[in-house]
Amino acid sequence: MRLSRYYAPTLKETPAEAEVISHQLLLRAGMIRKLTAGIYTYLPLGLKALNNVAKIVREEMDRSGALEILMPAVQPADLWKESGRWDFYGRELLRFVDRHDRESCLGPTHEEVVTDLVRHEIRSYRQLPVNLYQIQTKFRDEIRPRFGLMRGREFVMKDAYSFDKDDAGADASYWGMYEAYARIFKRLGLKFRAVAADSGAIGGSFSHEFMVLADTGEDTIVACPACDYGANVEKAEAICPPAGDLAPCPAAEKIATPGQHTVEEVAAFLKVPAASVIKTLLYVADGKTVAALVRGDRELNEVKFKNLLDAKEDLRLATPEEVTAATGAPVGFAGPVGLSLPVYADRELALANDWVVGANAADAHLLHVDLGRDVNVVSFTDLREVAPGDPCPKCGALLDFTKGIEVGHVFKLGLKYSKALNATFLDEAGKEQFMIMGCYGIGVSRIVASAIEQNHDDGGIVFPPTIAPFEAALINLSPKDETACAKADEIYAALTAAGIETLLDDRDERPGVKFKDADLMGHPIQLTLGGKGLARCIVETKDRRTGEKGELPLEGFFEAFA
Ligand code: ATP
Ligand code: MG
Ligand code: MG
Ligand code: MG
Repeated sequence: MRLSRYYAPTLKETPAEAEVISHQLLLRAGMIRKLTAGIYTYLPLGLKALNNVAKIVREEMDRSGALEILMPAVQPADLWKESGRWDFYGRELLRFVDRHDRESCLGPTHEEVVTDLVRHEIRSYRQLPVNLYQIQTKFRDEIRPRFGLMRGREFVMKDAYSFDKDDAGADASYWGMYEAYARIFKRLGLKFRAVAADSGAIGGSFSHEFMVLADTGEDTIVACPACDYGANVEKAEAICPPAGDLAPCPAAEKIATPGQHTVEEVAAFLKVPAASVIKTLLYVADGKTVAALVRGDRELNEVKFKNLLDAKEDLRLATPEEVTAATGAPVGFAGPVGLSLPVYADRELALANDWVVGANAADAHLLHVDLGRDVNVVSFTDLREVAPGDPCPKCGALLDFTKGIEVGHVFKLGLKYSKALNATFLDEAGKEQFMIMGCYGIGVSRIVASAIEQNHDDGGIVFPPTIAPFEAALINLSPKDETACAKADEIYAALTAAGIETLLDDRDERPGVKFKDADLMGHPIQLTLGGKGLARCIVETKDRRTGEKGELPLEGFFEAFA
């Protein structure tokens, strides 16, 4: 590619709207341009980087046995109503009606669509497991789109969905994806860490986020310097404080007299890692645990208030109006009321004096719960948040806090969508069973920005070679000199023939401009020819990352270079 005919409009000044370095450099290097808030056009260089990331993601997904499909961006509301997410998802879901007044949305994620696909196609256990993925443009109407490609409204995601016939298979699918992700981020040349982002689901740690370590990251990671323990502080902030620090929450006393249990006891009871327990409230009805609050909990697989509803005839679900009347919280209020207790995924329940009531989500509140009869608080532990220097729950070393950017997320979904959408298969015994699902996302466009956050210097981007739009820049300092041009063409042809993607800077520009642009765009190798070097019959080389310079003979350059 010749820069004179390329479209990479570099900027000298840092655009005022760009707060973080990746956003600044993506604009300055002529890689992206903003159309409107959170929505960008990829220019040729930016698109090449994006495609390089996508290529590695695709190769590793294929290697893992996942199958690529492409699902639609526009999704019908009906499916979202079936899954229950139409009411819940909130304003990140961009909704609209088409000309026939059919409610629709722009897909922020594809659990509904893929489950709908699979429920119509898969009938037998023989067709399982299956893992379907796509690399596709998502739309989320983020409240604060910012930092360029880091948090867009429109962005490119790889999303995969696994369907298994049993739990062991679902776990294998999960860990298969976990390993594929580790390979992907390694190949991309990123410093990353997989951290527990535990959903708190009973049965273990089946949600991990892959974090690129960078000071500008919006997430805080608790990481052990001595072992592989790592957790998203927001999701799993619980580290057991010394026993003396345990104190019952004053609010709990209004409800019942709590007994105190250690984090280890609660964690063992819930079969979750101690690190995911920050506050525990166990409610027991009829000897069964009804629900528990674990920090970051989104779904309590087996333990649901449903047990309670099933057990007590006089209990019923409250309507949103009843909740509003009782709590004064407006309908649509999504936060917790009183003590919050997430029960079903994405729903909140709270316990008040004589009844259990929750935030105003449909089917998330119970009326007429009689404490003591129906529900007992059997355990209450109020923990402080983990702080740097706390002991690692795994090995006891002192924990560090670092900032990270979430570039990937693997999640064991269990039966959530297969139940809601009735995705079943016939097992070996001919019995109908729900498929067990997992979902796995990678922020393909966010990775481009994260790579720059991690790899840049005063001169600009220092792309990891696997992401770099071009491997080499070939700078011709004497574009008006025929010999120089002929030599440049020769070298360019040899590099291209060898599969080394090269950007030949043949512009009629000052050397300083050319060097600056090459640095800014971040090509891993710079080769300079012309000027004084031409007289000495050499090509100058520069390693963008180390700045190390060298010389190679013009005659037989390619042999020497290779
Ligand atoms: P975040 O916590 O940053 O909002 P998320 O947890 O909502 O992300 P997921 O639903 O887990 O995102 O989506 C999978 C991946 O998609 C994320 O790990 C992230 O890399 C990417 N992603 C999510 N939202 C955005 C966005 N607004 N812009 C760019 N990439 C995004
Ligand atoms: Mg989000
Ligand atoms: Mg997140
Ligand atoms: Mg996530």
